[in-house]
Amino acid sequence: MMKTLIFSAMLAACYTSNALADTTVTDAPAFKTFHIGKIEVTALHDKSSLLPNDGKILGVDVGEKPVADVLAAAGAPTGKIKLDVDALFVKDGNKNILIDTGLGPSAQGLLVQSLIKSGHTPEQITDVLITHVHRDHIGGLVTADGKQTFPNAVVKISSPDWAWLQTMPKMAALVNVIKPQVKTFTPGDTVMPDIQSVPLQGHTPGHVGYQITSGKARIFNIADSAHSAIISLAKPEWAISFDNDRAEGIANRKTVLKEVAADRELIFAPHFPFPGIGYIVPKDAHYVFQPAVD
Ligand SMILES: [Zn+2]
Repeated sequence: MMKTLIFSAMLAACYTSNALADTTVTDAPAFKTFHIGKIEVTALHDKSSLLPNDGKILGVDVGEKPVADVLAAAGAPTGKIKLDVDALFVKDGNKNILIDTGLGPSAQGLLVQSLIKSGHTPEQITDVLITHVHRDHIGGLVTADGKQTFPNAVVKISSPDWAWLQTMPKMAALVNVIKPQVKTFTPGDTVMPDIQSVPLQGHTPGHVGYQITSGKARIFNIADSAHSAIISLAKPEWAISFDNDRAEGIANRKTVLKEVAADRELIFAPHFPFPGIGYIVPKDAHYVFQPAVD
């Protein structure tokens, strides 16, 4: 029960989230590295979760039967929706950058272990970039004993999300620990020499993605613009309960998917099947995910 409560508190603004309890599956490798021009980008696995298809999370406006039909059409089990939680480690010159931090040790997030397996330590992280302040993206900022996980890092959070986070009573302890590290920015700002934040409306007040560029190569971390590589791409017009503003979330999802598909842009999506790096490909009226091979 305790585990259920903790997990419920986290996969997001999942205030709706008794649906989030449930089974954890650990079938993903710890890390996978890709090369974007001169930049080394490593997907780090934090956790895999199976959410019940109960019509309360994805496709909240259509109910479980249409969701089950979409899952079946993709050859996936229809009773559960699998969502990974992953983060991106970016090595750019002498900067060791972590984009999002997973659920944290209190929720059995394995991000730090994955980082260590990839050959790096938390102390080596110079910058943490946060896409938004849901628990599955910031929980890993604090250790099991309540200390800064990345003590030498500047933690960059968009101003609207930092303001919002400080209104959440349940996050007060985390806020206190990370406060000395936090540096805010305006969505759209260039936050590192090769990384620009991209405003993505609807999910949280200051939800951003990150465009990482090296010469002509680039990868776009679309953050939580899309959650399920199956449902969010087959039916981008369906609402997701995690979005603060569901209509804006739908509009953002449609725009992002249309643009990255049209440009055949390499993306990282933190909740797609690990490593979550690949392409959005048009299929029939909508899209499918095509994992990249490096
Ligand atoms: Zn998320």
